[in-house]
Amino acid sequence: MLLTSKTFCILPWIHFFIEPSSEVKLCCFSSEGLTGETGSPLGLKNMSLRHIWNSVAMKDIRRRMVAGERIGACAKCDRESDLGQTPARAYYNNLWLENDREHEEWELRVAKSIENNLEVTGLPVYYDLRPGNRCNLKCRMCNADYSCRIREDALHSKWAHQSPDIEGSRFPEGSKWYEADDIFLNEIMENIQDTRVFYISGGEPLINPFTLKLIDLLIELKVARKIVLHFSSNLTIYPEDVFAKLKNFESVLFYISVDGMGPVNEYIRYPAKWFNVERNMKEISQNPGISCIITPTVQNYNVLSITDLIDFAGSLNMRCNLNTLFAPHYLSVRAMPGPARRLAIDRLLEYLEKSSLVKKFPDLAASIHNVVMELKQDTQKPYLDTIAEFIMFTNDLDRSRNQSFKDTLPELYNFIIKDGHTWSTEENIMLTTEKLSSE
Ligand code: SF4
Ligand code: SF4
Repeated sequence: MLLTSKTFCILPWIHFFIEPSSEVKLCCFSSEGLTGETGSPLGLKNMSLRHIWNSVAMKDIRRRMVAGERIGACAKCDRESDLGQTPARAYYNNLWLENDREHEEWELRVAKSIENNLEVTGLPVYYDLRPGNRCNLKCRMCNADYSCRIREDALHSKWAHQSPDIEGSRFPEGSKWYEADDIFLNEIMENIQDTRVFYISGGEPLINPFTLKLIDLLIELKVARKIVLHFSSNLTIYPEDVFAKLKNFESVLFYISVDGMGPVNEYIRYPAKWFNVERNMKEISQNPGISCIITPTVQNYNVLSITDLIDFAGSLNMRCNLNTLFAPHYLSVRAMPGPARRLAIDRLLEYLEKSSLVKKFPDLAASIHNVVMELKQDTQKPYLDTIAEFIMFTNDLDRSRNQSFKDTLPELYNFIIKDGHTWSTEENIMLTTEKLSSE
């Protein structure tokens, strides 16, 4: 019955996502957070996890999903469905309602909630936590919510500023949910006997005190053996002591955030050093207790060369799943001249036809198709609308990092010049911002 609803997704019945600000969303792909009855954002700062879980907002979302209605927060999945791409909800529905060993329990959970005014009796069993913005990198497409290095960078933080804290008084002003022991122990750990998955991302989890505390606590409580851990890591570091503790868990999956080979990765993921990343990727590929998926964020900076990274992942016997970037819009694959997009499409289609990795890893094929579909969309207008912004952003970051777009990515640079654009070096956002504020 549920699968006849095109908008049904299992996540609002099992999953809980918390931003660094404590704002709660349906999942990491959700474009909007939950809101309370007055329209203000819902988060642990103003409501307990238990209350948010069965709040009016959550029940309304569940009701609309069952009825086949579209939900603003799930626009990304709807858009991907409309484009013939494979949306994230298809992946989660498949994983939890077909392949999971307890899939019957999750089906029952949904059915019972429908009889009970969409209230879910059990608590979440799959947590996606963003415990702050401690990170050692300031990747071009990221923002200050997820990277303290960007927040501290006067220039980059002007392009990618931090979201305001949400209103609420459950913990003192200035303190954070991931530092509040009562939130952590009483609310997130309340359902620990039934919890199945913790996914830690947002910043770099391997240097985040919350991650280390969580790992120790799960081992101490003797529940680690039944917990699946997922991390999203840039793998610029490989702390042996943390990896030793991970052996205690049911399974561990690393989504490795690498965006290209050598100079391409160093350009996008500043100040990562390829030497370290490559060494750590080889090290983790030899770790029998850990599964890995390379998850590059596909953007205009790397789409022309992304197949090199897929091949490198394959040489380490790792899967690669491409994530298509949607924000910031000036880094999207749509923000490229037509001939560059056509070349990117040709390279990806040829790869789909010829690479043995595509047959070995079906998810890879689907994710390549998604990028191709994105490249084929209404492309001329987004490109013309954003090219000036793209040049200014790129110049700003190049200057402040002593990097060079022209030297690192000459192919895309030449496409832009041939398309009739002058690569201006005159202005940057600092000057623009100063001008605007003095007007
Ligand atoms: S439908 Fe998509 S965006 Fe919405 S909760 Fe599911 S996976 Fe997330
Ligand atoms: S590693 Fe991740 S969190 Fe850190 S800056 Fe890069 S994208 Fe952002």
